[in-house]
Amino acid sequence: MRRALIAGNWKMNCTLAEAAQLAEGVVSGVAGVSDVDIVVCPTFTALETVGKIVAGTNVAMGAQDIYWEKSGAYTGEISPDMLLDVGCSYAIVGHSERRQYMGETDDIVNRKARAALAAGLKVMMCVGETLEEREAGKMEEIVKREVVGGLAEIGNDELKNLSIAYEPIWAIGTGKTATPQQANEAHEFIRKVVGQLYSNEIAEALVIQYGGSVKPDNTATLMAEPHLDGALVGGASLKADSFVGIVKGAQA
Ligand code: PEP
Repeated sequence: MRRALIAGNWKMNCTLAEAAQLAEGVVSGVAGVSDVDIVVCPTFTALETVGKIVAGTNVAMGAQDIYWEKSGAYTGEISPDMLLDVGCSYAIVGHSERRQYMGETDDIVNRKARAALAAGLKVMMCVGETLEEREAGKMEEIVKREVVGGLAEIGNDELKNLSIAYEPIWAIGTGKTATPQQANEAHEFIRKVVGQLYSNEIAEALVIQYGGSVKPDNTATLMAEPHLDGALVGGASLKADSFVGIVKGAQA
């Protein structure tokens, strides 16, 4: 049985005081939960503050993005070692907002994933189709392209530290959740693609998170689907009680 991974992507939100309060609320709300991997992903400026609060607890910290170079003349970018230094153990790559607004391609997503894994970070790699693509019957084509492109040159051992987050773009921040069946179908398809790229055993072990308007009241139903192993949560991770509700909804 795959262990559930619930991550909160705080996006571009929270002052330091707000981030600290949210992190403290999450830490106290999930104290004692040992059967779910829990991650909070604050914005870069809050990493140090939140890192101190979650240190030594059952809550890990992730970055919302990463750059692939080690150091040097890359104004505005943050390296894997910098993220480790500030207490991150995860990094999100390929979020649809970065693909959409910052023009990130599958190649960029792949470079980021490889650099993060090589540095010892765990990766949550996002994939997902737009509404237009889904309605045109292209969900599988898009998701396959993103999975294959994102995983290029990532070896069997490295894949153990990577989860894929299926995030249909039409369900992100819209209040529209994919039905559990729609999500399960897409996850099963991702597992099949990963099975073809690696092996069935590796695909079976892969953690596939769902993202798109996950809330405390729909978590258990979503997680009951056989191919759903967790969630990447946006809006509902900005309130400690709703994020804690999602973590508890994902408990086996
Ligand atoms: C996300 O941005 O990754 C996300 C899933 O957002 P929301 O939960 O708000 O739909």
